[in-house]
Amino acid sequence: MNELSVPRPNSLDAYWMPFSDNKYFKGDTSRMLARAEGMSYFTPEGREILDGTAGLWCCNAGHGRREITEAIQKQAAILDFAPTFQLGHPIAFEAASRVADMTPEGLDRVFFTNSGSESADTALKIALAYHKARGDSSRVRLIGRERGYHGVGFGGMSVGGIGPNRKQFGALLPYVDHLPHTHLPAKNAFSRGEPPHGAELADVLENLVALHGAETIAAVMVEPVAGSTGVLVPPVGYLKRLREICDRHGILLIYDEVITGFGRLGTDFGAERLGVVPDIMTMAKGLTNAAVPMGAVAVKNGIYDGIVQGTSAGIEFFHGYTYSGHPLAAAAAIATLELHKTEDLPGRARAIEPYWQDAVHSLKDAPNVIDIRDIGLIGGIELAPRAGKPGQRAMAVFRRCFDAGVLVRVTGDIVALSPPLIIEKPHVDRLVGTLEDAIRAEA
Ligand code: PLP
Repeated sequence: MNELSVPRPNSLDAYWMPFSDNKYFKGDTSRMLARAEGMSYFTPEGREILDGTAGLWCCNAGHGRREITEAIQKQAAILDFAPTFQLGHPIAFEAASRVADMTPEGLDRVFFTNSGSESADTALKIALAYHKARGDSSRVRLIGRERGYHGVGFGGMSVGGIGPNRKQFGALLPYVDHLPHTHLPAKNAFSRGEPPHGAELADVLENLVALHGAETIAAVMVEPVAGSTGVLVPPVGYLKRLREICDRHGILLIYDEVITGFGRLGTDFGAERLGVVPDIMTMAKGLTNAAVPMGAVAVKNGIYDGIVQGTSAGIEFFHGYTYSGHPLAAAAAIATLELHKTEDLPGRARAIEPYWQDAVHSLKDAPNVIDIRDIGLIGGIELAPRAGKPGQRAMAVFRRCFDAGVLVRVTGDIVALSPPLIIEKPHVDRLVGTLEDAIRAEA
């Protein structure tokens, strides 16, 4: 042990690890992360691991940022906690104003949550409450998209479109339907940025309107770029068409910006980069650089007014979390958004994007690479599955990368990259070079 090493836990039994193969991990604990700084994690023994995933798409400003940790420490000494039900504390209002300053014009009302999952469920509830407040109570149907991920609450899981996330839990929300996903490898393989084909897939919303009646549909929720199911970048023109159809039928458009928010696409939010603004936008992760859990939902002013002014007296929206606007999270958010601006993190992402794109696409000729996708500082490398063993090849690549000192993320047979936005060219070279070696070794 040196002064930078951290003791390993005495027992692994009690902790039920989320979204994990508990048996595998507890049988082979070599992949433990104990410390982090800048672009890197460190194992308990002090071995450095380059972070190619910004944790889980969340530490956009890099790890251990002093400005954020000091703000949290300071706030803990001033006000550890105060309720926000029928009470307020200054820093929650300040944090909401900072978020509203960054969201697209007109989305100026901000509801705080503690995670992306809570943000998704909150956004869906806001959509339902808004229609009801306007006397449009038949609008109860929620439309998601195949391969969409909106967290693990019952709302987000129902609207989400990932089979394995749903199958264990039986009946979910009843009034839900799904658009097709936008992944068209036969036409779009190895596209750079937004793929050229597939805008017409948005027109399926018209079919759902014809099937269910627009008067029953409250909202459509999509990720601007789907991350968790393997980096699905929207086809050119797709979101614009979705927006037009929603407008035509009085349907609210919700973006789940949990991974695309806060600079990941080289702009504050995905809405800006992709040129189409939603009515409601969820966020989490990069909001506090993940230093304290926090999520948020920003809504158009008219939606807030519809619910709040539309209620004569008393509580207008029967929803909230004990920790909505928690002082430590609010302090972390303010410090993070300050860093985001002073260091121009979206600008940094934009500046390095061409280099990143070339590096990621240089893997094209590596064995078993069947598609590569990218946008902003995101890369998805899809591998051919091993016969009868889906996911096994990518998992082997993940383990090899980790053993060689690089953290990547895999979903199915897709390797997803989403480094901190402070990444520099030598990090890109190391990340992609290590990944290439691992892919070749698993050929
Ligand atoms: N929505 C999207 C688009 C996500 O990528 C995630 C997490 O990866 C979530 C929601 C869920 O967020 P959380 O795990 O904080 O609940």
